[in-house]
Amino acid sequence: MSGNTAYEAIEKYRGELEELSLKIWENPEGPYKEHNACKWTAELLEKHGFHVEIGAGGVPTAIKASFGEGHPVIGFLGEYDALPGLSQEKCTVQKPIEGQVYGHGCGHNLLGVAHVGAVLGLKDEMIERGLKGTIIYYGCPAEEVLTGKSFMARGGAFDGLDTAIAFHPGTMNVVDVGNSLALNSVKFHFVGKTAHAGGDPHNGRSALDAVEITSVGANYLREHVTTDVRIHYVITEGGTAPNIVPDSATVWYYVRAPKREKVEEVYQRLIKVAEGAAHMTETKLEINFLGGCYQTLNNHVLAKVVHEAMNAIPQEPWSAEEIKMAREMNQFDPQLAEAIRKAANLPADAEIFTGVMPIVNEGNAGSTDVGDVAYIAPTIFFSTACYNLGAPGHSWQITSSSGSSIGQKGMIYASKIMAKFGLDMIEKPEILKEAKAEFDEKTGGAPYKCPIPDDIKIPE
Ligand SMILES: [Zn+2]
Repeated sequence: MSGNTAYEAIEKYRGELEELSLKIWENPEGPYKEHNACKWTAELLEKHGFHVEIGAGGVPTAIKASFGEGHPVIGFLGEYDALPGLSQEKCTVQKPIEGQVYGHGCGHNLLGVAHVGAVLGLKDEMIERGLKGTIIYYGCPAEEVLTGKSFMARGGAFDGLDTAIAFHPGTMNVVDVGNSLALNSVKFHFVGKTAHAGGDPHNGRSALDAVEITSVGANYLREHVTTDVRIHYVITEGGTAPNIVPDSATVWYYVRAPKREKVEEVYQRLIKVAEGAAHMTETKLEINFLGGCYQTLNNHVLAKVVHEAMNAIPQEPWSAEEIKMAREMNQFDPQLAEAIRKAANLPADAEIFTGVMPIVNEGNAGSTDVGDVAYIAPTIFFSTACYNLGAPGHSWQITSSSGSSIGQKGMIYASKIMAKFGLDMIEKPEILKEAKAEFDEKTGGAPYKCPIPDDIKIPE
């Protein structure tokens, strides 16, 4: 039966896959700094016969690893970056690992490796059954700052794809066809003039004032945008002591909206706010545009394919130990755990998700740079249960689960689902044709235009 060889192969490689995901978990790296994760992942793919290119699209920690030839060309979108402030031991209480800042609080150690498992399994079945097609593993850096794939796309890494699939660890087994938000990321850096804040403040021009006035302006701007727009910020630099007028201050903004065009429009208005703040405070403004991404454009035809695979592939039961771990962590957010139980119709004593959700049509207010690939080729996005039910997004509970066997089981299940997706794309060309028709209808045939201009440098 189609898929059996791939599933067996994934089980055969399971030890190597789990080892790689744990190694990445133990060595979390920030956006554009995923040198180890990139190297280790590339080594495993090379060992198993993939043609590996490091630096795909000009991004140093990106991978493009291919096997096979001809059409269909199928992309598997792995990620491997971690989050700051989410270092955590593998235990059921919050306990950062001493001396470690980053942690896999979004489970990308499972994310990147699940796609490796998929292509390894798929490759074995393609060889055994003489199936034609090209499968490409993409190691995509810096998803946590939402620009890795956009830079890769600018560099042409995804050109020629017929379709792509992206898995993300989650609390449920679910295919989501709702759209996430498009985004722009920008840092406003103000340069003023320092002075003694008590002695001669009249000689100072405060960069921090400019940051604060920008925030005031942005607050008023929020009143005059549509309700679906999100504008949020953090001050990353604001001076050193109250008695020194800060001559340097920086504020980092995200602008999000359901459509790329809306983001561009509000972004231009936010720039006017920052320029106004610079004018008022007699400081100099430097605009550091960090990049942006598209909203996702999901595909109903592909959603059905993934949903069927999820239902067809058996899930491993959770062990007593895993359930105990989940129960202990659910105590930190019982409301969230209860909300998920209700939404998913789970029994009152469920601690981790079991089953498959119906296809979800609701969008969410987050963003992902998978959106950029979704505007290049028909793309589908799905999740499997890799955490306890009450794990909030970007949390220590997720770091802990992602390093445990709960995460590993979700990862292997995802590998099998994606291998099956790949086989369906190869064996049922009529489905891919239908998916392309949906894609063409939604994009109106417009070619992808990268939100990041050519003169913006790729971060290192
Ligand atoms: Zn993530």
